[in-house]
Amino acid sequence: MRLTGWLEDWVLRTNHDHAAQRRSCACWPSLQDYFPAAFLTQAGFVVIDPLPFPLAERWIPWGTGTFLPASFGAAAAITYGDTYYLRPAFAHHLSLHVHELVHVAQYQHLGTGPFLRRYLYQLLRTGYRNAPLELMAYDLQRRFERESAPFDILTEVAQQLDAMTAPACATPSGESPCQ
Ligand SMILES: [Zn+2]
Repeated sequence: MRLTGWLEDWVLRTNHDHAAQRRSCACWPSLQDYFPAAFLTQAGFVVIDPLPFPLAERWIPWGTGTFLPASFGAAAAITYGDTYYLRPAFAHHLSLHVHELVHVAQYQHLGTGPFLRRYLYQLLRTGYRNAPLELMAYDLQRRFERESAPFDILTEVAQQLDAMTAPACATPSGESPCQ
């Protein structure tokens, strides 16, 4: 698909352009109870304001006008592949790091292009707060905040994504969780 191909290139270029400011998530020892050390080492974040977004005019040919950029104008953070970007006010907000690391895990499990296609499709179909990829991130973020016992977030993400895409229970849209 032309749009997500362009967007995938933009993601790679954006991460490359910010490589010097990028810090590894291994700097958060307390997250090692929730993610494997190797995952935290390869994931990274950039503290920056404004957050990088694709140019608004690139969305217009897709028929969505400026919907996507406008929706994310006030975002605290956003994830592109193995790197997420946070505004300075949220740099030490650990549960927000967890939320964005869930998105890193989703990208890793699905692949960058398939993640972007699925995420955009969900945004347009259900809106940001009801997009299944966001619901998963908010749910695991909430568990991190409320539960005292650590849990394996990477495995949770993989199991939930596999359940969403299991052929035996997929709807024509391929998006329904297996129940
Ligand atoms: Zn999110």
